Amino acid sequence: MSPSGPDRVILAVAVSSPLKRAFDYLPDRETPDDGWVPGVRVRVPFGQRSVIGVVIDIRDHSDVPPDRLRRIEALIDRSPLPGDWLWLCRFAARYYQHSLGDTLIGAMPSLLRQGRPLEARTRTRWSITDQGRSPGETVTRAPRQAELLAAIAQHPRGLVASAITALGFNRAQLNALRDKGLIDCREESVAAPLNERHATTLAEPTLPLHREQSGVLAELHQDLDRFQVSLLHGVTGSGKTEVYLQLIEAVLDRGRQALVLVPEIGLTPQTLSRFRKRFNAPVIALHSGLNDSERLDSWEAARSGRAAVLIGTRSAVFTPLARPGVIIVDEEHDGSFKQQDSLRYHARDLAIARAQRHGIPIVLGSATPSLESLARARDGHYRHLRLNTRAGNAAPATLSLVDLRGKPQRGGLGPQALAAIREHLEAQRQVLVFVNRRGFAPTLACHQCGWLAECPQCDARMTLHRDPHRLICHHCEQQRGVPDACPECGSADLRPQGAGTERTEEALQEAFSDTRILRIDRDSTRRRDALEQHLNEIRQGEPCLLVGTQMLAKGHHFPHVTLVVVVNADGGLYSADFRALEHSAQLLTQVAGRAGRAQHPGRVLIQTLHPEDPSLRLLVEEGYDALAESLLTERRLAGLPPFRYMALMRGESARMEAVIDLFTRAGETMRTWLAERGLAVHCLGPVPAPMERRQNRYHAQLLLSADRRSALHEAGAWLDDWMSQQSDARRLRYSIDIDPQEM
Ligand code: ADP
Ligand code: ZN
Ligand code: ZN
Repeated sequence: MSPSGPDRVILAVAVSSPLKRAFDYLPDRETPDDGWVPGVRVRVPFGQRSVIGVVIDIRDHSDVPPDRLRRIEALIDRSPLPGDWLWLCRFAARYYQHSLGDTLIGAMPSLLRQGRPLEARTRTRWSITDQGRSPGETVTRAPRQAELLAAIAQHPRGLVASAITALGFNRAQLNALRDKGLIDCREESVAAPLNERHATTLAEPTLPLHREQSGVLAELHQDLDRFQVSLLHGVTGSGKTEVYLQLIEAVLDRGRQALVLVPEIGLTPQTLSRFRKRFNAPVIALHSGLNDSERLDSWEAARSGRAAVLIGTRSAVFTPLARPGVIIVDEEHDGSFKQQDSLRYHARDLAIARAQRHGIPIVLGSATPSLESLARARDGHYRHLRLNTRAGNAAPATLSLVDLRGKPQRGGLGPQALAAIREHLEAQRQVLVFVNRRGFAPTLACHQCGWLAECPQCDARMTLHRDPHRLICHHCEQQRGVPDACPECGSADLRPQGAGTERTEEALQEAFSDTRILRIDRDSTRRRDALEQHLNEIRQGEPCLLVGTQMLAKGHHFPHVTLVVVVNADGGLYSADFRALEHSAQLLTQVAGRAGRAQHPGRVLIQTLHPEDPSLRLLVEEGYDALAESLLTERRLAGLPPFRYMALMRGESARMEAVIDLFTRAGETMRTWLAERGLAVHCLGPVPAPMERRQNRYHAQLLLSADRRSALHEAGAWLDDWMSQQSDARRLRYSIDIDPQEM
């Protein structure tokens, strides 16, 4: 067959490239023309390099002149990558307007990206046969063989080859025993050894559900075989996890798999062990601690169906599943589900798309649902399931605002908070102090001239750290020494402003010198198991003080904490970002939820300089749900998400004019095009980004918003295309973020 003939084969290959198109190639010389299917990996020449790509289409013609078509170097896969995974990548690339090649390559385990075969890694497990249990005379004259047989006999599930080698036995001894029919071996996957079939799914009994939980579970049970989004809206400690576990049990009983997505901070050893203890089936965690081979093993175990339950953070939404049965997104409001660079996806939203595609139920759980999910529940798109009482009859914590105006402070704590801490410590209880900033103080100031320690590279103040004693910018990591005198006026009267965790810890140490204080933030937990050690100590229940950032606020159970103090609640009140208040209300509610989970009722003191603020009062007096209602009303009136859809184009450059010029032209052209096209999309800007200068680069943004998603996508695609034609766009970095979470 001639390569220019009408029936030649052209392969469209997606490679990792910002260009939003596939590239045409001729087949390699080994693979027969009918041997191609979409979804296989290939190695192709790309520019000067050789890269891995994925065949996404097989065509009979190309617009590239025949003499310029290059040949595929090698076909890697015998069968295509998993179909559900390919579908999700395509969906994500289209929805988030990202290059498909980049999406595919970015979403596969790195060993696959490097061209490693897809087959599962296996190991050999040796176990004893019936005959081996009564070997008779067969090994009496081979003492080493007898020892080996005894060693294997001790392990009911058998021994893996590496363990046998470690015991000092060799292959010849194994073979000899096998030839005598005394032992036998089988291959098993490294990631999820195929267990002997268990008659039951459960390894431990379930908890008897309380009334609300049973109601919720009964509703969920009704729809195991169809797509349905349920918002499980339950106060902290109401037993959502127990509901997930029992729902998963039903799914496993049907021979299906469960995918559980948790926030970055939520994948703790306790969470995992709760799942592992419950089921007689392989539970696989996908977390950042896995090395490349383990990651590939887990992927393979999920794809083949050997893994029953997959638990992971954001990127786990891309795990292929052989027999999907349910998806659960725990703490669905959590910001870590949104990826902030490259493919800017929201794992919750992709999970919903995926569940719809598979025709399976999805449960979004939270004590403080996102306004997006609440709005969908209110308009009937999602089923709204509520759990209003805490499991085990723990009483809800009482919240109160503490006016900090004009009060003396120690490490950010006013007299009322200090007195309450003393009282709870004297009652042999634990106290949690929440500070929203790590370091010693948010900045250093001169009391003579008002100078503030600012980052030379960013529009931000540098944080004062005590240990090491330095000024550090939390945005660009730039560091410098702490000056002895003011660089502006020479005064020695430099003072830390505000309180970070280190300063609060220091003040508490002075005030309560006999009390154990545990500080938990990113600095104090850099060592791998430091957090786990601290948490273990806290669980012992001895009276102590915990000082920490939001690392403490989420996911952990502290049954002995009866008082929570929020050092400063004002962060989210006056921010330019319309979501700031929602996020800070979620965080405060989560922090408050740490108090009084066991038999002792909890108290939460929230310090503020704005005790009259209506939002703060609503939150404290009536709770998150009431505040969320009022925020939803505001959003509707203001035409903001979830009542409108948004896309944000961000750009950055070393020169302010470069980004502003280009974005101004983009905005003007866009508005003209929108008017001509009659498309109901608003285009706002360009405006400088909230922190305009970061690492000496200038950031600006252009905002699109629309009532209809399809209009927004059409406008976004047009803008993206227009940008790709501008020569000056190549000199700066820009990106389009669909459904941006931070503005
Ligand atoms: P959530 O996920 O809503 O914060 P959990 O499922 O973690 O709540 O439950 C909080 C605590 O209550 C856990 O210690 C859990 O073991 C316990 N719990 C949950 N459901 C029940 C139940 N039905 N009976 C007794 N204890 C329960
Ligand atoms: Zn000064
Ligand atoms: Zn900086």
